[in-house]
Amino acid sequence: MSSDSIKYLLSEDRIPRDWYNLIADLPSPPPPVLHPGTHQPVGPDDLAPLFPMSLILQEVASERTIEIPNPVRDIYRQWRPTPLYRARRLEQALDTPAQIYYKYEGVSPAGSHKPNTAVAQAFYNKESGVKRITTETGAGQWGSSLAFAGALFDLEIEVFMVKVSFQQKPYRRALMESYGATCTASPSDKTMSGSKILEDNPDSTGSLGIAISEAVEMAAQREDTKYALGSVLNHVLMHQTVVGQEAIEQMEMAGAYPDVIVGCTGGGSNFAGIVFPFLGQKLRGGKDVRIVAVEPAACPSLTKGRYAYDFGDTGHLTPLTKMYTLGSTFIPPGFHAGGLRYHGMSPLVSHIKELGLIEATAYAQLDCFEAGVQFARAEGIIPAPEANHAVKGAIVEALRCKEEGKSEAILFNLCGHGHFDMQAYTDYFTGKLQDMRYSEEELAMALAGLPSVENTIGA
Ligand SMILES: *Cc1c(COP(=O)(O)O)cnc(C)c1O
Repeated sequence: MSSDSIKYLLSEDRIPRDWYNLIADLPSPPPPVLHPGTHQPVGPDDLAPLFPMSLILQEVASERTIEIPNPVRDIYRQWRPTPLYRARRLEQALDTPAQIYYKYEGVSPAGSHKPNTAVAQAFYNKESGVKRITTETGAGQWGSSLAFAGALFDLEIEVFMVKVSFQQKPYRRALMESYGATCTASPSDKTMSGSKILEDNPDSTGSLGIAISEAVEMAAQREDTKYALGSVLNHVLMHQTVVGQEAIEQMEMAGAYPDVIVGCTGGGSNFAGIVFPFLGQKLRGGKDVRIVAVEPAACPSLTKGRYAYDFGDTGHLTPLTKMYTLGSTFIPPGFHAGGLRYHGMSPLVSHIKELGLIEATAYAQLDCFEAGVQFARAEGIIPAPEANHAVKGAIVEALRCKEEGKSEAILFNLCGHGHFDMQAYTDYFTGKLQDMRYSEEELAMALAGLPSVENTIGA
């Protein structure tokens, strides 16, 4: 038998025609989103200053499918369908009877799954007459994806990048600027919220929470400007379902069906992308499949957080959503998988966890890098530090299969490459990378500070 990895490719015309909305197949919908002041469910009009109405309607949609507009499909064609690989050399290295498959989203121009939603969001904003979009970015993956989409639709993109990442990852910033976006270190003096932070603390290294406040403030100021988010929201997760829909067809080509699907979770979008179409089949009476979410041990919302209403940002400008959260004031330690450093989890992923439809587990940074390096040496692709969590989860499942003598099929989402994250690999090889721990005390304090809205609604 050949030791080569096998690639399953769909033809271009097999790019999905619709996005899939999991809510249509769930036994109950997620709890309502609440207004931060009144604690009453928010309506579409409440969100209109920030998002175009087409995206707001997708956010609250209950139909099973939403047609992908042709201009978006045409752009997807540049890198979609993405390949699905059988990781034969990794299987051999692990000496496991399991079959390991991975869907590779790193082939997009920005190097991750994020352009799947960035292109869609840019399209709907352009269509509604928007001229400029503001956003925040942590490690820079979302900022560069939206910058790419903005270039295609001739939109001005204004990115607030957490200052510590702005300094640590100059190449992500250069990528955004190459696409024509403006990238500003946050906190900045471009906004009132940024200026206020700088006044109090001129040396502030920034946080995702502060950057969100700056982007939201700027979007609210001008009629022709809206705001975009790269994860967490229902419509973002839905745009990512092209990943799982393609994977269903590709697993069919491979003559297999996954026994277990693994994905890493920051805000939940790449996980939802690969998982939801399979979960939908199961909920409609299809085959059973185990689903495992993998998160960083240093920011473990699904495994150590509380399922409660909370704010999406530190500045408390956003509506309240019910989700697994570590508390909006919780600041995770600065580990390298920047895309997973979020205090909450998507309300939809939180809801299906609460329904018992998925499992969650957490691994520390060094274990994940070890897994990523083993993967790179077998399969040749350098995973993003975030994706290393999915690799680690898949390897754990493969070793369990070895112990139990089972030849299960394992599918995971390799959601991005790590070409802009090589400093993290260098730190790993030189022993500088350490396992970060959050303070139990700080977590307890952040959880104690959760807003008390539980008993005010009947949900
Ligand atoms: C942004 C990002 C993540 C985390 O976001 P999710 O919404 O949880 O997918 C994970 N991996 C990569 C490569 C990312 O760019």
